[in-house]
Amino acid sequence: MKHEYYDKVDKERFSKEKLYIHENRNSLERCPYCAGSIKDRKVAVYRGLIRALYDVYRWCGVNRRHEFKTREIKHLLGKNEYNRFGDLVRFGGIVYKPKEDGESEKALFGINMARAKEFFAGKRDIPLQIVLDQISGEILSEVRGYVGDFPELSSFIGKNGLYDHEKPVQINLL
Ligand SMILES: [Zn+2]
Repeated sequence: MKHEYYDKVDKERFSKEKLYIHENRNSLERCPYCAGSIKDRKVAVYRGLIRALYDVYRWCGVNRRHEFKTREIKHLLGKNEYNRFGDLVRFGGIVYKPKEDGESEKALFGINMARAKEFFAGKRDIPLQIVLDQISGEILSEVRGYVGDFPELSSFIGKNGLYDHEKPVQINLL
C-alpha cells in the first residue's frame, strides 16, 4: 500500500502549522509540540560577563592561544559567567565557535583577539542587548555600546593600562 499522497498532505499540513507557530510565537509562548519556550527572548551582556571576557582575552594572550575549552578557563569565570559564556557568540563576533568540517565541538570556543583588543580599547562597539527569535535564531533588534558602558572595567583598564596580546611580556598588567 502506498502512502505517498498522505505523506504529502501531512508535509503540507505540517509546514503550515510550523508557519502558524512561527508567526504566533509571542502569543503562544510555548511550542505546542514540545512545550519549549518559543517567545522572542531578550538577551543582554552584563558587567561580570564582559569582565570575564577581558580576563579570558588576557589568559589567551599570556598562553599564546585563541581557542580553548571552557573547563580550561573555568577559574576565570563565576557560576553565571560559566553558564552564560556561550551567549557571547551572539555579541559582535569577538567570541566564536570553531568549526571543523562544519561541526562545532561542545564547550570549545575561540576569541578573535584583534576584535577583542579593539573593543577593550574603546574602538569597537558590540551589541549590549539583543532580541532573539528563538525559532529561527535570527536577531530581531539590538542595542549597541562600547566598553565605556561598563564604567568599572573601563576605569580598571584606564588605571592599569590595556592588556595588549601583541606585546610579548606585560606581567604588571596581570
Ligand atoms: Zn517544539
